[in-house]
Amino acid sequence: MSQSNLQRSMPSVTLLDLSDARFDNRFVRELPGDPETRNVPRQVRNAGYTRVSPTPVRSPRLLAWADAVGEILGIARPASPVSPAVEVLAGNRILSSMQPYAARYGGHQFGHWAGQLGDGRAITLGELISPNGKRYELQLKGAGKTPYSRTADGRAVLRSSVREFLCSEAMHSLGVPTTRALSLVATGEPVIRDMFYDGHPEAEPGAIVCRVSPSFLRFGNFEILAAQKEPELLRQLADFVIGEHFPELASSYRAPEVYAKWFEEVCRRTGILIAHWMRVGFVHGVMNTDNMSILGLTIDYGPYGWLEGFDLHWTPNTTDAQGRRYCYGNQPKIAQWNLTRLAGALTPLIEDDAALEHGLAVFGETFNNTWSGMLAAKLGLASLEHSDDDSLLSDLFETLQQVETDMTLFFRCLMNIPLNPISGDRAATSHAPESLESVDQMNDHGLVELFRPAFYDASQAFSHAHLTRLAGWLRRYITRLRQEGEPEDLRYHRMSRANPKYVLRNYLAQQAIEALERGDDSVIIRLMEVLKHPYDEQPEQEDLAARRPEWARNKPGCSALSCSS
Ligand code: AMP
Ligand code: MG
Repeated sequence: MSQSNLQRSMPSVTLLDLSDARFDNRFVRELPGDPETRNVPRQVRNAGYTRVSPTPVRSPRLLAWADAVGEILGIARPASPVSPAVEVLAGNRILSSMQPYAARYGGHQFGHWAGQLGDGRAITLGELISPNGKRYELQLKGAGKTPYSRTADGRAVLRSSVREFLCSEAMHSLGVPTTRALSLVATGEPVIRDMFYDGHPEAEPGAIVCRVSPSFLRFGNFEILAAQKEPELLRQLADFVIGEHFPELASSYRAPEVYAKWFEEVCRRTGILIAHWMRVGFVHGVMNTDNMSILGLTIDYGPYGWLEGFDLHWTPNTTDAQGRRYCYGNQPKIAQWNLTRLAGALTPLIEDDAALEHGLAVFGETFNNTWSGMLAAKLGLASLEHSDDDSLLSDLFETLQQVETDMTLFFRCLMNIPLNPISGDRAATSHAPESLESVDQMNDHGLVELFRPAFYDASQAFSHAHLTRLAGWLRRYITRLRQEGEPEDLRYHRMSRANPKYVLRNYLAQQAIEALERGDDSVIIRLMEVLKHPYDEQPEQEDLAARRPEWARNKPGCSALSCSS
């Protein structure tokens, strides 16, 4: 390795062992906590959180670590899978600078007010100030019971922890706003789950993820205070969040306009977030208001999934299979519904319906503009402002939905169509077919053939009706691209940044889980590495970009998931 490469690969700051880190606890310091400390399920009033410690686990062992997150925090990868740092990540060792707590929140679940929920199994250890001066909460998910656990056990199973760990980091690399994950630790204790809710509970391995975010506050933290008529605390929490996380708005103190501006900013961020989900084909699966981050981040990875066949009605969540409230195509509408609940909760602070309406309108505008810009980029266009663009898009979505077509692969194939005869360098790197033919010389079959990797059922895809329809659409699209008259390289670059090649396909996550359950971490490590560069070709990793194999179509964990986690 050359000297300059060596320097580049060396971290610029010395990384600390987590067990030597100094935590701060601003949230606990600045907001009122629950005066009661009994760790039993109960209703909590007049408090933002309850101080509670993680329940130790039998034999913690580090399974995976995200170096990128460690470097942000200035924390070194633990020296061994059973080191003191791992004891911290399992909740077995509480440092003297930590003041662990569970946050109090409520939420609307599946459209109905559910009352108090709260951190039933997540416990925040405290905040770390990173080497670049930013403050991050470290939170253990699956750390044991809290007063918010209701009848549940406070624990998490390995499979859901692997899914949260992998997906947080994959989303970050895709450029999607998200909470992060530092570590995945096996607890060495079984957790009993009835995975299919069919009366067959089984013991599964337990695990704990250490999540990292500037804040884990949700819409529900505000909703509970409004619902339980605690307006002073509502104001205090809003002031805290604005001061900490929206400092550009904090200049004038406690004016209704400041709260209105803040709500507008939450709406704007949520609009951008949902547009990203739609761009990469991510379906959250449980968009309850307690799973909506006040910072506009993806939060709480449960029965989420990735679109394989493009389908607006698809949801990974078996609990939602009937109503499909949280299916792919509903996500923008549901985000708006959730923001409307947040607006309701903030009414005591803002008291101006017009201002709240304005915030909601900002959500709509932001989502529409961002999504439209992203769709344009997905298609390699500068914008979607031509008069025919609406019908170009709706025809595409209908065509994709007509026969099962992998969304991710379709757009990568689209990016690789040989608009001009391929020559020189592009010929060597292009994934277009060997021939030097351009699209103009191809018949319908030849054109559609370019998309073969994306079809789940080739006989349907090459049926006369579908072949004619898709080829017709492609010719319209090619004409539209040429009208744009932009250099081919620019189009290619634009598309390659909007259309990931590698996403955390549901069956890939399941393969990582099954391997880890056998004690093999090679699959999770490989996935973590590949998903760090989701837009790059990485030709040697091609198998991870392939469409879902047929054996995975109906296999539990690979297609549909319950909320059991
Ligand atoms: P979720 O559906 O994961 O967003 O969780 C909804 C609520 O249930 C939150 O208050 C969680 O903290 C709580 N919860 C989920 N699973 C558990 C568990 N195993 N033990 C305690 N609380 C849980
Ligand atoms: Mg949740």
